[in-house]
Amino acid sequence: MAKPKKYIFVTGGVLSSIGKGISAASIGMLMEQRGIKVTMLKMDPYLNVDPGTMSPYQHGEVFVLDDGTETDLDLGHYSRFVQNAQFTRKNSFTTGRIYDTVIRRERAGGYLGKTVQVIPHITDEIKSQLRAAAEDADLAIVEVGGTVGDIESLPFLEAIRQMQHDEGRANCLFVHLTLVPYIATANELKTKPTQHSVKELREIGIQPDVLLCRSDRKLPEDVKRKIALFCNVPAEQVFTAIDCHSIYEVPLFFHDEGLDEKISERLGIWAARPDLSAWRKMVRTILEPQGEVTIGIVGKYTDWKDTYKSLNESLIHGGVANNVRVKTEYIDAEEVERGQRDKLAEVDAILVPGGFGERGIEGKIRAVEYARTEKIPYFGICLGMQLAVIEFARNVCGMKQAHSAEFNSGGAENVVDLMESQKGVTDLGGTMRLGAYACQITPKQGGKPTRAYAAYGKEQISERHRHRFEVSNSFRSRLVEKGLVVSGKHVNPQSGIDLVEMVELEDHPWFLGCQFHPEFLSQPMKPHPLFAAFIKAAKEQAKDGQPGLKGIR
Ligand code: GLN
Repeated sequence: MAKPKKYIFVTGGVLSSIGKGISAASIGMLMEQRGIKVTMLKMDPYLNVDPGTMSPYQHGEVFVLDDGTETDLDLGHYSRFVQNAQFTRKNSFTTGRIYDTVIRRERAGGYLGKTVQVIPHITDEIKSQLRAAAEDADLAIVEVGGTVGDIESLPFLEAIRQMQHDEGRANCLFVHLTLVPYIATANELKTKPTQHSVKELREIGIQPDVLLCRSDRKLPEDVKRKIALFCNVPAEQVFTAIDCHSIYEVPLFFHDEGLDEKISERLGIWAARPDLSAWRKMVRTILEPQGEVTIGIVGKYTDWKDTYKSLNESLIHGGVANNVRVKTEYIDAEEVERGQRDKLAEVDAILVPGGFGERGIEGKIRAVEYARTEKIPYFGICLGMQLAVIEFARNVCGMKQAHSAEFNSGGAENVVDLMESQKGVTDLGGTMRLGAYACQITPKQGGKPTRAYAAYGKEQISERHRHRFEVSNSFRSRLVEKGLVVSGKHVNPQSGIDLVEMVELEDHPWFLGCQFHPEFLSQPMKPHPLFAAFIKAAKEQAKDGQPGLKGIR
């Protein structure tokens, strides 16, 4: 008989943003390290079919998978914590997609005259998508977006309630993350919000098995016992989810509290104790590095770190590769546009990340110019590469009107232009150049390895994309003549496609732009080669040679 599939359902209570994604990812990491074949998935309760059309202001970063699916940023956490799972479209779905599927089926006559209802048709569709995602794994960790008590997530909760009967209670584990705040004036940890949140969950028929209690301190035994009593959970299944300096400490803390051991026992999974030594070493490098570099990130979503979640993590990984702490300084592109240069002058390297829309564009172009002419390491990602090409065209090739069709449609010198495949596209959902594409690296330039080759150490790579515009081939030879090095290309001899994927400059400490998003592939245990190389260049740039440690954040 086939081994029964196991499911862990992770719900959140009390508040949003208390770390449900990181907690789920940490469980995934620990179970994978125990030798279990793990997959993870996220169900989001909003009506957008995917987050691709949502502003990152609203929802944080849009994370992109190899197959081109635009997903919630939690898929990014999963990808960084769980090292061997391949995530696809199946691993992330929204209420919008569920309804879209059900309604299309209804229009096609798929329900044979029945009244189509939330229960059972929507819940059946949720369960069937859950099972499809879990297909190739032994254990599926399912994160339910939103907070228990929200109207929107009720169908998801109802579906997972039913799953325990369909799959067998012994094969399902309900993990609930809550908040246990410390109230200074009372000198007390307060359990009431947890009690209420579990009560709410039990009212809809879900009895949590494990409680993860987010707190700024370790829960004492008596507090755990109190929570256990009021929430109908054994005290040894109440765990602290403590605030950590680095998110990568979270699984280590859970492990030390015995969480993965308890999960394995409850699910009847025979598994070895995990060897976490390499992970611990990585965390130590993050917490106790040998130096520090400061990276200036020039952007417009300057006030929300979630917008650049994967980017921030990738920079940390680049720091791990070089044994330095990476401090990020957000520089408002509009300030640079108004002529302020002081912040640019203070950083060891400059990065212009991906982005959409016109605001701040000229400031970003000036930041590129500053990096190019002042010989400060520069990394341009997607939009950041396009702007590097525009800057080069304007200031080196003398093309004064050089621009991108995104901001100057119909311009005479649009060195960045709409891709052929994008012309005439009016549907904005999922229509960009999305997902993994092969890239061929130019190994040498002027007798020396290109920066790209030096970083990757190979000629064939694959990277993920999310953009509508490209370097225009009509201007490519003019740019190359003046010294722009095309160090990566996507070519397809059959279709004649030949696209610029990476550019760089000679006679510069480190100047590289890439049309793809390397931040979607970086892992703390395997820092992405471009981030490792960029941070290395920043480290060499760090003016005082031996930057002091400024304490753990
Ligand atoms: N806005 C640019 C484009 O669509 C860049 C996109 C990005 O940086 N992800 O091509």
